[in-house]
Amino acid sequence: MLIDAQNYKQKKGETGEIGGASGRKILVLFGTRPEAIKLAPVILRLRTDPSFRTVVVSSSQHTDLLTPFLNIFGLGIDHDLRVMTADQTPNQVAARVLASLDPILEKEKPDVVLVQGDTTTAMAGALAAFNRRIPVGHVEAGLRSGDPLSPFPEEMNRRVVSQIATFHFAATEKNRDNLLQEKIESDKIFVTGNPVVDALQFILANSAPGGKIKNLIEQTGNHKRLLLTTHRRESFGEAMSENLIELGRFVEKRRDVCLIFPVHPNPQVRRVTERILSGRERVHLLEPLDYIDFITLMRESWMIVSDSGGVQEEAPSLGKPLLVLRENTERPEALSSGVAKLVGGDAKTLAEMLETNYNDETWINSVKEVENPFGKGDSAERIVGVLGEQLTVSSEQ
Ligand code: UDP
Repeated sequence: MLIDAQNYKQKKGETGEIGGASGRKILVLFGTRPEAIKLAPVILRLRTDPSFRTVVVSSSQHTDLLTPFLNIFGLGIDHDLRVMTADQTPNQVAARVLASLDPILEKEKPDVVLVQGDTTTAMAGALAAFNRRIPVGHVEAGLRSGDPLSPFPEEMNRRVVSQIATFHFAATEKNRDNLLQEKIESDKIFVTGNPVVDALQFILANSAPGGKIKNLIEQTGNHKRLLLTTHRRESFGEAMSENLIELGRFVEKRRDVCLIFPVHPNPQVRRVTERILSGRERVHLLEPLDYIDFITLMRESWMIVSDSGGVQEEAPSLGKPLLVLRENTERPEALSSGVAKLVGGDAKTLAEMLETNYNDETWINSVKEVENPFGKGDSAERIVGVLGEQLTVSSEQ
């Protein structure tokens, strides 16, 4: 813990009363779709508690994917850093987040900066807060793949945030253990579950899929729906092409299967998808979907194939079998819950796994009712509860 209660008191002296009559100020920073999905329930919860004020900052690391999601949750943005440019590198994103967040931190003087996960926005945002001696809360702390280069650059981003953060909100006991191994102080690690489960429950209870998705579900009613997402940097190139070729072959061979693929806007994904899968029978290539549309398709799928992190956390709540298109996963709880199986890096293994589970649906049927190891839907409440307690302790010291 780099900024402790003592430093914090020092900060209180510099910036005036912590919180004050109108509440403690929490600056929540996000920039990509998964960050917004996971922080939205926390922001909504903070807003129901009069002891907090929120300042919502988007780096807009992903502009197109973010806006529809923010609309569903009714979340406005107080500051937009607009860092996105075509073909940006992690260094360019980090530099722009550092430079553009700094004056906002100076103006807003938040009591805590809350970041989520492992993006370059989270890493640079945490560093910017540290340089202004503002404590950082890290949601989804303690995920580790064990390989600094995979996922890239996310594994290093999350390690850096752990070095900076004062409050570590771990989703699971395993995440807590990872942090303890890195000598993070145990009384600043809080196992709260992952608010992605809150988001999923909120969306299912409060919205309905759009007409296009309803039509697609109707149109594919006689098919086993295979839902695909793939966009990770480490999947680019040959690995992605080979996976798409195998998926195409499987759908061609099994005439009762259709493939539904919301294609990520990254040009590296678009180009290869267009080349391998466009114009094929029973292959539905879609634009990135609103959260409710995507969750609905997950719920209506026969099987999911994905390299996404968030999808591994959502699949257990929906009781859907998931083939994880990665060499390793920092979410081993998805594997031990039984819902997910790791494909590894070989497309031939993917083909075999599809065939095996097509011929014998035992695994698919066995995951319909499982407990979600990543949370129960009360994570936002728990995170906000911890923040309330911890800030009270700090201000009393
Ligand atoms: N998602 C979505 N629309 C889509 C595809 C995915 O809303 O078309 C959601 C999905 O449910 C999950 C999140 O986006 O919550 C995953 O985002 P992504 O795969 O970009 O990032 P990762 O989870 O790998 O960090």
